Amino acid sequence: MSAYLVSKLEADKKKRVRVVWGVSFTVIALIAFSIILFQLLLQNEKVEIASHITEVAKQSAVSANELLRGDFQSLNLFAHLLESEPQYLDKKHIDGRLTSAIKRTGFLSMAVIYPNGLARIYDTNRGFQTYKNVKNLNYFKYGMQGHEFVDFEPSRYDNDNVIVLFAVPVMGANKKPIALITAARGIEDFSKAVAITTFNNHAVVHVIDNKGNLILRDKSTQAVLKSSIFENNEVSDEKREKALKSDKPESYWFKDINGVRKVASFIPLGYNNWKLLAILPFSAINHNSQRVLQFAILFFLLINAIVLVAVRYNLKVKARSDNMVMDLALQDDVTHALNKTSFFIETEKILLKESPADEKIDIIAMDIDNFKVINEIYDMEKGNQVLKDIASILSKAIGENGIFARFSDDLFTILYKYTDANMPILLIDDITKTLSKYRLNVKINPSFGIYEVEDRTTSVNTLCDRANIARRSIKGMTAIRYAFYDASLSRAILEEKQIEDSMRQALENGEFEMYLQPKINMQTMLPCGSEALVRWNHPEKGLVPPAKFIPLFEKNGFVIDVDKFIWEEACKVIRRWLDEGKTPLPVSVNLSRVHFKYEDLVDIIQKLVNKYNVPHKYLELELTESSFLDNEGVVNSTLVRLQQLGFTIAMDDFGMGYSSLNMLRKLPVNILKLDRGFINEAACSKRGFIVLNHVISMAKDLQTTIVCEGIETKEQAETLRKAGCDIAQGFLYAKPMPVAEYEKFVYSEYNMA
Ligand code: C2E
Ligand code: MG
Ligand code: MG
Repeated sequence: MSAYLVSKLEADKKKRVRVVWGVSFTVIALIAFSIILFQLLLQNEKVEIASHITEVAKQSAVSANELLRGDFQSLNLFAHLLESEPQYLDKKHIDGRLTSAIKRTGFLSMAVIYPNGLARIYDTNRGFQTYKNVKNLNYFKYGMQGHEFVDFEPSRYDNDNVIVLFAVPVMGANKKPIALITAARGIEDFSKAVAITTFNNHAVVHVIDNKGNLILRDKSTQAVLKSSIFENNEVSDEKREKALKSDKPESYWFKDINGVRKVASFIPLGYNNWKLLAILPFSAINHNSQRVLQFAILFFLLINAIVLVAVRYNLKVKARSDNMVMDLALQDDVTHALNKTSFFIETEKILLKESPADEKIDIIAMDIDNFKVINEIYDMEKGNQVLKDIASILSKAIGENGIFARFSDDLFTILYKYTDANMPILLIDDITKTLSKYRLNVKINPSFGIYEVEDRTTSVNTLCDRANIARRSIKGMTAIRYAFYDASLSRAILEEKQIEDSMRQALENGEFEMYLQPKINMQTMLPCGSEALVRWNHPEKGLVPPAKFIPLFEKNGFVIDVDKFIWEEACKVIRRWLDEGKTPLPVSVNLSRVHFKYEDLVDIIQKLVNKYNVPHKYLELELTESSFLDNEGVVNSTLVRLQQLGFTIAMDDFGMGYSSLNMLRKLPVNILKLDRGFINEAACSKRGFIVLNHVISMAKDLQTTIVCEGIETKEQAETLRKAGCDIAQGFLYAKPMPVAEYEKFVYSEYNMA
């Protein structure tokens, strides 16, 4: 995944965060708006409820006033009667008057009280009674001063019961009271008059005085008389004072001791500065409109909440999947280490932001020599497991001092921070040592290229390139495990570029030339064939050996053209020898592994030998063991077909890499070419000699011819001859040479016709 995609994912993430904030803000604003709207509507509703209860309480006050006024009227009528006929006040007549008055008025009891404090009472339940002295009672004092009186009093007979007590004076001729008429009305009548039956009987109605003292408590509440309903300071004093002082109806909302919201309505009564106090809890109001409103607001809030939750969830899921994509984008899927993209991002961060200026930083490229072999010998799964283990070895070795990533196949790149100059080499030694102990039949040899960062603003790509240039500079050199980058390596890269630019033209210009290196029969010591080896006659650089260009050509595929050119040269020379009547010695040509990837080798070779009409036995084909490893199936079947057509197949460089005896048994080869290194080892150590002997004897058992390459000394030649080597090729006998020289060598020096 590209850095572009990663930055896009990050931009998306930022955008998402903005969307989340936007949506959250909008929803919160909507919720706030709903709450304000709800509050406003509630306020309005409260005002309406307050005026409603006030209206209802006003009706109650009217009923109460009417009741009181009616009773006063009845009493005053009776008093006026006695004023006009004072003789009826006398004991003989008064009982009869009281009896008839009670019948007319429906009072519980009535009494006449004389100025001396003597009271004659007629009670509907108890009949006539006389009290001696009521002088100290309030109503007596008020009445005898000529005032009307009304109050709520405990019943004389039953303290739990309350009565409404009235007193009116009977005025004498001198405008002074000559008696008082009192009457008691049952509280039920009063309560009935003031009761508020709307609001489902939830409203309570008290009578209070202008100081807020309870005169009469609603019968539905516990205690009946006195005590303040404001003891709990449920509302602010100012509100209460204002309502108490006003001579108009007043109302306000308050919360009671239990936190219940209630409305209190104060309605002045016409007597004693009394007020009716109606109290209604908010919950008692059961307006449909309010229900609908509440429901609508709740619904609105719910929808908002759902939208918010849905948006957040959606974004969360998206973020999670993006994070997964991000992880995949930033992780190597085999080892779970960083991948190239994330390594670039992290390296840039470390170089430019995180790492202090006095810290040194190296970029180290690492790969494993012939890692492909592991995949071939084992399988892909095992190969992946080895890569994972390598990653964990790197992780442990690097620790907190850096980061690493897998760039491709077996190519790892490390960023290493250090203060002591020895540290990178210690790290490399540590990794190499740990890998060398890895339990596998194939040895894991890493190569490292080190680039010490000089300018931190250099692009990470360039830094990695330089580490890789250093790594490639020691490719194939088994003894050297690491190399530092220096500018000359860049020159090598430049050179490669120059080669690539000029190679096609060089082929057309005939700068490539076939050299032949004779092979010697170890029995007869006569030449028995040759190997065709390419040389580049460069106009400026002179004769360039294949090691300088073949690896590059194998990378860029041009080796195919060069090989075909050499094969054709070989066919041409064999043809010429035949035409000249000579007995041609076989020529072996090298076949790069690359051929098997692209084309049908059998067809090409067949066409070529047919073109020059060359008998197949004169052309030998050399393949390195790496070709066999690349694609065993295809290579095998190709070789079998070639053998069937009469070509001789040789396995080149045996013993150099990972060749195994097992492989020898499986592969269709006629000749085994033992590598120079293998032979050197046999000459140096007893162990090597034993292995060599076994290889030769096994090859013989398999009817395979042994060719020993790179024989430089007589001792080597002698050892190999003894071991059973059939053919020798080496500088001891002859170096690779131009065809003309070879012809001289074979046909003149050895007189072979
Ligand atoms: P190779 O096929 O194993 O060829 C043998 C190499 O060993 C040749 O190197 C040869 O000069 C060298 N050699 C022979 N005897 C001695 C000796 O006594 N001492 C030493 N030190 N070296 C000896 P050369 O010609 O430089 O070729 C190197 C490799 O390049 C070849 O190894 C082969 O793999 C490749 N190559 C050469 N020509 C061609 C070609 O036309 N096509 C392909 N595909 N590869 C080629
Ligand atoms: Mg060869
Ligand atoms: Mg060889």
